[in-house]
Amino acid sequence: MTITDLLSRLDGVRSRAHGKWSARCPAHPDKSPSLSIREVDGKVLLHCFGGCTPEEIVGALGLDLKDLFTDSPTPHGQRPIAKLQKLDLVDVAFRFEMAALDRRLRAEWTLKAVENFNGDNLSDEDRDRLMKVVARAYADRDQAEFLETVADDFRLKAFHERTNRHAA
Ligand SMILES: [Zn+2]
Repeated sequence: MTITDLLSRLDGVRSRAHGKWSARCPAHPDKSPSLSIREVDGKVLLHCFGGCTPEEIVGALGLDLKDLFTDSPTPHGQRPIAKLQKLDLVDVAFRFEMAALDRRLRAEWTLKAVENFNGDNLSDEDRDRLMKVVARAYADRDQAEFLETVADDFRLKAFHERTNRHAA
């Protein structure tokens, strides 16, 4: 995925500075452009000032976090592909692990908080809300598991890369 591909999927894209854009966030009803997009060293960084996570944003675009690694030069032609090939796999794995940990902690806090909660006196509306929060916690846990698998993948790749290099 190139940065141009990504930008073409977004609404209200405006170029801010070299390698920086703003757009309407696809993950929440966004009137002002709350999404900021940056391209740094073959990686696209997304930040929504409305509080959406990068996963939610790429999810809303039908993409995956892995798609945020751009595989060709930017429109400015600044980043050679070779740079991406030398991506520090251990660093990438670490980032995925941190994202997983983030989800896992959020899920655990939520589930712990509702564990001893007596919902008897809740209105239907509040009960619905509570169910949504719990569902979200389980979804977080699933996502964490997925991110951990991705992290493991990268670590394995990094390991093989190193062994191959030593063997050669
Ligand atoms: Zn958003």
